[in-house]
Amino acid sequence: MDAPLIFNVQKFSTHDGDGVRTTIFFKGCPLRCHWCHNPESQRYDKELMLHHHKCTACGSCVSRCPEGANQILDGKLFFNRALCTACGNCVDWCPTEAREIVGEEYTVDELVKEAKKDLIFYEQSGGGVTLSGGEVMDMKNFDFVVELCRKLHKEGISVYIDTSGYAPYERFEKILPYVDVFLYDIKRITREEHIEYIGVDNALILENLKRLSDAGAGLYIRIPVIGGVNASPASITRAINFLKENNIKARQINLLPYHDIGKGKYAGLDRPYEDTKMLIPDKNEMEQFKTMFEEHGFSKVYIGG
Ligand code: SF4
Ligand code: SF4
Repeated sequence: MDAPLIFNVQKFSTHDGDGVRTTIFFKGCPLRCHWCHNPESQRYDKELMLHHHKCTACGSCVSRCPEGANQILDGKLFFNRALCTACGNCVDWCPTEAREIVGEEYTVDELVKEAKKDLIFYEQSGGGVTLSGGEVMDMKNFDFVVELCRKLHKEGISVYIDTSGYAPYERFEKILPYVDVFLYDIKRITREEHIEYIGVDNALILENLKRLSDAGAGLYIRIPVIGGVNASPASITRAINFLKENNIKARQINLLPYHDIGKGKYAGLDRPYEDTKMLIPDKNEMEQFKTMFEEHGFSKVYIGG
């Protein structure tokens, strides 16, 4: 079976778990969070990202495209994504680097080799490798993910997985021996709101969290906090109650304030940025939510990742 596509290998990351980490971003996700800041992570196939602001309408890409997907009309570039096969022929011919293919194949050994280059930094900082996405746990060739974790673990590298939890529990069970921490997202507690903002029911996600906790998995709970969506004491209280009532043994809580940095990427993929009503929560609100967790006995609560 084909290897999953990777859309970024980010070195020296300090926002995806402890210490200095190499974050490997997998392409493909079954969820559609309104606030997703990595829209290039959503589809499982390769795609062309077009950075419109860099395009000077020079026309170089027109003759390079075997599918006729590019045309210059009235001094402007028109790109027909429906014709594009993401072959990449046009990319190197663009003088302004306005074109980029998102999604690349790697072997497990190539990724392990890349990760090992920074061993010294992991050792000094308590870091390691984080697998992120997209949704790592939903990759069709899941054996690839298991093998990657197994090999990293064998090298003594700490492995974290950033997950929405939306995958069969058997997959978590299979990978558990090689994973030090799951960075586990709790996006919404009520089923209706979860369907509205994320596109799927959350029953499986919450059930998997309970089972992982019971199995003794390392868990950092991550809650995206979005103004106009869940940045309210009532919503935070629901999350706290769920964690307490189900005795979820979280090693830490990360409250992640919404940002709209990824907004521009939607245009590059010809997709609309659906929700314009989302707001960046202010610092005082975030402090208030942090205090709420602390008052309920959670000792390690952080704002940010
Ligand atoms: S990636 Fe290939 S098919 Fe798509 S626009 Fe470029 S040359 Fe055409
Ligand atoms: S080659 Fe690049 S700069 Fe030239 S028209 Fe195509 S996208 Fe625009």
